[in-house]
Amino acid sequence: MARRPFVVGNWKMNLGPGEADTLAIALKRALWDRQAVDVSVAPPYLSIPEVVNRLRATGIGVAAQNCHGQPAGAFTGEVSAPMVRAAGCTQVLIGHSERRQYFGETDESVNLKIRAALDADLEPIVCVGEALFVREAGKAVAVVEQQLEGALSGLGSEALERCTLAYEPVWAIGTGRTASPEQAEDMHRAIRTWLSGRFPKAAVGALRILYGGSVTPANAALLLAQPDIDGALVGGASLKIETFLPIVEAATTRS
Ligand code: PEP
Repeated sequence: MARRPFVVGNWKMNLGPGEADTLAIALKRALWDRQAVDVSVAPPYLSIPEVVNRLRATGIGVAAQNCHGQPAGAFTGEVSAPMVRAAGCTQVLIGHSERRQYFGETDESVNLKIRAALDADLEPIVCVGEALFVREAGKAVAVVEQQLEGALSGLGSEALERCTLAYEPVWAIGTGRTASPEQAEDMHRAIRTWLSGRFPKAAVGALRILYGGSVTPANAALLLAQPDIDGALVGGASLKIETFLPIVEAATTRS
């Protein structure tokens, strides 16, 4: 099944409103007529309004990096999925390993957030991935399957059809160490096989699974050439137009 390539730039806690707008201007110039690949960026919350305004009608999506699992309430410092939607985002990253590692997110909270995002008409980009000690113990697939089990618990095929998955080995995020194309492809295939046992074939065949973890212009083409790697979730290299564009280019060529 042909899946449209998808490249997402995760700006993390970088680029305040002014800098974000500058990068959005460059993205708009470079990508406004891009037909063959979906591109989104995930700015920090406070930069979302500038980026949404700048990228309006360009076809470039804007995602939040997180949302709360409840639609409203006494949760000081948090931002809800309906607020993210109202700010003009159409997607939201959920369960990024930095959220799991530094902010105590669990498979249960990830499940709640996916539900909240879907209720707010947002497309969840659900992140899974194993730590280095897990891979070295030969348990990478088992741990990722466990994360999927928790994240997708109780969700049906209509929900899955509205999600994107991102496989991001924790040991490759922001470390300059990338999974080899074979390691990444093996995991993506394992994820699709696991999903095939639980969801209808059509939903699993249509689902996009992105790879994330130190994707750069130098390694993007080989990673994106793998049959089950449908795009990239890019952190560091998404902060500069000159490193992000070649990755989008590699995804375009793949299509
Ligand atoms: C990420 O933020 O999801 C990520 C993969 O970061 P980096 O590309 O910098 O490893």
